[in-house]
Amino acid sequence: MSALKRILMAHPRRLWIRYLLAMSLVMAALASSYGMQSTALKDSSFDAEVINIGGRQRMLSQRIMLLAERLGAGRTEQDLEKLTSALALFAQGHAWIIENGLRSDRARRHYHGGSDTGLDARSRAFITLAEALEAELRRGADPAVRLTDLRAVDTDALLWSLNEAVTIFQADAVARADRLVRLEDLALLMAVALIVVEGLAIFWPAQYSVNDALDRLETANAAMQRKNEELGAMAERVAHSALHDPLTGLSNRKKLADALLSRMLSLGPAQSRLCVMHIDLDRFKEINATLGASAGDVVLCNVAKILSGVVRNDDLVTRAGGDEFIILMRFGAVNAVRNAIAMAESVIDKIRQPVVIDDRSVSVGASIGIAFSDRDTTDPRRLLGNAGIALHEAKRAGSNMVRSFDGTMRNIVERQHHLRNEIVRAIETEAFTPVFQPLLEFATGRIAGLEALARWQHHSDGVIAPDDFIGLAESTGLIKEIDWQITRKALDRLAEISRRDGWLPRLTVNASAHSLREPDYASRLVAAIADRGLPPAAVSVEVTETTLIEGESDRAVETIAHLAGHGLGILIDDFGTGYSSMSQLAALPFTGLKIDRSLVSGIEEPRQAKILAAIVGLARGMELKVVAEGVSSPAQFQRLRALGCDFAQGYGISKPLTEDQLLDWLDRYSGAAHEIAC
Ligand code: C2E
Ligand code: CA
Ligand code: CA
Repeated sequence: MSALKRILMAHPRRLWIRYLLAMSLVMAALASSYGMQSTALKDSSFDAEVINIGGRQRMLSQRIMLLAERLGAGRTEQDLEKLTSALALFAQGHAWIIENGLRSDRARRHYHGGSDTGLDARSRAFITLAEALEAELRRGADPAVRLTDLRAVDTDALLWSLNEAVTIFQADAVARADRLVRLEDLALLMAVALIVVEGLAIFWPAQYSVNDALDRLETANAAMQRKNEELGAMAERVAHSALHDPLTGLSNRKKLADALLSRMLSLGPAQSRLCVMHIDLDRFKEINATLGASAGDVVLCNVAKILSGVVRNDDLVTRAGGDEFIILMRFGAVNAVRNAIAMAESVIDKIRQPVVIDDRSVSVGASIGIAFSDRDTTDPRRLLGNAGIALHEAKRAGSNMVRSFDGTMRNIVERQHHLRNEIVRAIETEAFTPVFQPLLEFATGRIAGLEALARWQHHSDGVIAPDDFIGLAESTGLIKEIDWQITRKALDRLAEISRRDGWLPRLTVNASAHSLREPDYASRLVAAIADRGLPPAAVSVEVTETTLIEGESDRAVETIAHLAGHGLGILIDDFGTGYSSMSQLAALPFTGLKIDRSLVSGIEEPRQAKILAAIVGLARGMELKVVAEGVSSPAQFQRLRALGCDFAQGYGISKPLTEDQLLDWLDRYSGAAHEIAC
């Protein structure tokens, strides 16, 4: 089957061989038909000539006899000439017939059959006698004898025989013509057969293989089209994912940048203003840290849904990374700022609605900064920057706040930029120095420790307190340099005190999240303590709860474990203000907690007192020492002691002291079991 198919189905490129073959066969058929035609034509004209000559012979034989009789009666020169020419013509015609005209057996038999009955013999005898007569006549002799001889020839038989010869020649011609007709019929039949065979063996398979090739081409075309469509879809997906956030499906920063540029370049609808709303979630990191990343994802998707629901079709909602979103939209120029703020507030209300995740009710807040493009703000980056500044201001104002950018905010930013440069310089010039705030032990009334707190000795502005630089130092990461400068210098002082007085108070230093995430922070601190000949147990590190829930807290956890492993104390600072995770509290090797002064200051209130009592109970249960911060009055002191706190710290005991003040202070108090004033 396949062999047959191979034979039948030539490759379309080789069809020319088939066409050549078909043409050759047609040419051969034409050539043979032409050959046959011309042979037939030649034959029929020859036949006509034979019949013609045959008829002439018959006529000449009669003429010769007639002339012979006339000459026998009386000779005329004219008749003699006629006889001579008729006789010559007859002899010539006979010779021609004998040589060329006998083409059938019948004709040959008619001429040569029997020795003297054949027409040949008769004709030759006739010629001989007629010539003898003619010769006598020319000589002028009496032709009677010769005439008698001639008459003796059976002229009737000759005439009949010549007649018969013509009949035979005609019959032969008819037979040949019949054969020719049959031959032509056969040729026609063969031509038809040839066409059929060519059709079947050449053109049909050719058509078949062309169809087949076309089919295959069509299939290949369809497959290619499908591939093209698939490629198109894939390109679309790639293009989509290049411009969209995979989690929420919102556009990403790249798409925002493109859209912002094009919208700022185009004027947009008349009487409208382009607005950027920068949204940052409050407490999102806490949810991620306490409930896990998948709960965080649910919150982000929920916020994405809320934001997509409040905008119009041609507005653009972007996830700008982490828990930040940016909306690009237009507001009518009249009351644009007021309307944008109202919308932002309603967005915050929606975001604040609790969502249930794994049977737990979870709520986040949001801060929003708003900025509008105007004649001065034509650069997309500046517009985004303005919204970012407004957001920063909103966050500074507390949770769930909205701020719209105004020029004064930029001054704040510029001041911060200046301040940052100054902090960098201050780090280089070692302008940060520690002050020390003592800790008092309730049980003994002794000074049990000192907390090192940073002060900036500004070259022109005097001493600057942490509140004015810690925030910026934290947001820029410069805080870890400050931490280290304060820690080094505080350790130096501690070593000095220990050497001078033979008394070793416990030193606590504050460590920011940035410091705790430094891979070598713990080993550097351990080495610095050892270098000064101090025991590790003399030093404690204070960490805030938020440190442990900000991103990358794993590294901070490792640092804490490392420090605790070397015998350093680890205190949770500002306890009660952050978002405490009890599981983390139990899992980490804390040695104590410092109750924030906002809680301590409310100790007079029964509810607050209950909270304090609960915290102290919790700390006892976990074998943690309790330090009460911000103790500023004797009443507070008494109540805290009654609650069972271990240590007190606050202005009521001592404000933070400079190095000189500390030495003075220690001179007065060190080693002595002084009861403190409060
Ligand atoms: P903090 O660690 O909670 O330190 C206690 C702060 O409360 C100190 O403010 C101290 O002066 C103040 N304070 C103590 N007792 C009282 C009181 O009875 N009443 C009032 N009103 N305030 C009291 P300071 O020194 O301004 O430090 C503020 C914060 O700056 C510190 O809070 C700490 O979070 C941060 N900080 C200070 N020094 C450093 C440092 O070297 N590194 C890091 N990372 N943070 C530091
Ligand atoms: Ca502290
Ligand atoms: Ca504190």
